[in-house]
Amino acid sequence: MKTTKTLLLVLILCVANQVAAKEPSEKDYEKIAVRVHKSIFSIDTHNDAALRILNPKGRYPAGSTGQVTFDLMQKGGLDASVFAIFVSQGARDDSSSAKAVTYVKEQLAAMKAYTQSRGDAALAQISAELKRNKKRGVTSVVLGIENGYAIGKDIDNLGYYRREGVRMITLCHSKHNDICDSSTDTLAGAGGLTEFGKAVVERMNSLGIIVDVSHASKNSVMQVLQISKYPIVASHSGVYAVNASPRNLSDEEIRGIAAKGGLVQIVSLKSYLSSKPKEQVSVKEMADHIDYVKNLVGIEHVGVGTDFDGGGGVVGMEDASKMRSLTVELLKRGYSKRELKLFWGGNFMRILDMYKKSK
Ligand SMILES: [Zn+2]
Repeated sequence: MKTTKTLLLVLILCVANQVAAKEPSEKDYEKIAVRVHKSIFSIDTHNDAALRILNPKGRYPAGSTGQVTFDLMQKGGLDASVFAIFVSQGARDDSSSAKAVTYVKEQLAAMKAYTQSRGDAALAQISAELKRNKKRGVTSVVLGIENGYAIGKDIDNLGYYRREGVRMITLCHSKHNDICDSSTDTLAGAGGLTEFGKAVVERMNSLGIIVDVSHASKNSVMQVLQISKYPIVASHSGVYAVNASPRNLSDEEIRGIAAKGGLVQIVSLKSYLSSKPKEQVSVKEMADHIDYVKNLVGIEHVGVGTDFDGGGGVVGMEDASKMRSLTVELLKRGYSKRELKLFWGGNFMRILDMYKKSK
């Protein structure tokens, strides 16, 4: 009798062991990802959807849905995005600069009005507002500006943008500007930050606008790190050591950003992520960049900035409705719930809350 009992126990233990050792199926991972997204807060720190939603120059065909709508975000378990008002770099004379300022102010007002006109979205500036919106089932819009050309020649425009609720400004775009050198301009620049640029960074610090160094040259990034009192963010960039694109960050920049408490938000733009043919660049390649930053400086310094509607999107995560596939990939790589919580939004909310809310 005793032997039978022992045998039975051994048998039960063997079966239990086999069950525990069984790899979760794709469906299991998807179920876990759904649960994770319900219990954490997720933010994409860069999209250019405002450009498509507001369609200022009629550059999108009527009725095109693009990669980011509030519906797609809800479907993908994405709670918030930084919607950037983008202005391309034009001539730097007074009148062209003034035109850029007027354009951005108009677009910003239009994006705010659009958000406020919707029942399924609301503006948010700090973590308490983001969480409150999620609780009532509403998607959050955090306002940003891509390209400091939007400031023009008048630094006081920063105060205007802050009062209008802007939380982050990308210092430059693909060409040098009055603030700093771009990583993709082949002409000689200022060697990093200009004198005006230094004043801009200081004013952004004092106003509570996050300094975004995506697109900036290495010299620009290192000089911003020297003078910024607050952590800085690269809202949509990759890792140079993983793929040698001028838009990606060197280890020195990543270490510098992390040492100051800042963030490297991994982009989903294929040519920044990999030199493979585009149809082969997937969430896996994106996760390789995320792993790299995590291993170099820690999970507290990495997140995601898709650049949807601005060139972003990989196989498996083609639009905002498919954000969970990145979570599935990270779960397969052993990321814990705590790590996913920081990665998806905890880190960025920490930075948002370092600055005070505008009145
Ligand atoms: Zn960009």
